[in-house]
Amino acid sequence: MRITYACPACRVPVRLDGIELATALDCPACGAAVPVPPGAVAWSGPDGSPTAAGTGVPTLRRCLVCPGTELFARKDFPQRLGVAIVVVGFAASCLTWAWRLLVPTFAILFGTALIDVVLYLLMPECLTCYRCGARYRGAGGPHGGFDLETHEKHRQQRLRLGGGVPPASGPS
Ligand SMILES: [Zn+2]
Ligand SMILES: [Zn+2]
Repeated sequence: MRITYACPACRVPVRLDGIELATALDCPACGAAVPVPPGAVAWSGPDGSPTAAGTGVPTLRRCLVCPGTELFARKDFPQRLGVAIVVVGFAASCLTWAWRLLVPTFAILFGTALIDVVLYLLMPECLTCYRCGARYRGAGGPHGGFDLETHEKHRQQRLRLGGGVPPASGPS
């Protein structure tokens, strides 16, 4: 399991691998350690029954950083790559269209769309924490897709806690 998170102490993006059995996440930049909440990673066998830590498949029960329990699953697809494939395909089809090659033009357009779909399906899912934005790769768990309502709830909470809301003006 791999994690990418912003260090709560120095805000530097941290990337750590093999965190399934970690008891704390150490920031390489400032040395701050985030203690991993006990039971945040659960282990289960092939039949879904719980197993001892370090055996079976790890699933993420809660965020290791903040430690919120609400995470969403999303495809780990690099959007720029998807756009690049479409742009290259479109440019190539413009050339073949200019040369009046009808069949190759449509073959290229359908081909690039198909590559995008196949890449998307092959991409693994990654989990993102609503509260702190930490991202997990190679982690399963009972988490659904992105939910705007939950996202908004956490955004409002962050604003209240972080003092991101400007103080009320006017006479007091
Ligand atoms: Zn740090
Ligand atoms: Zn979090």
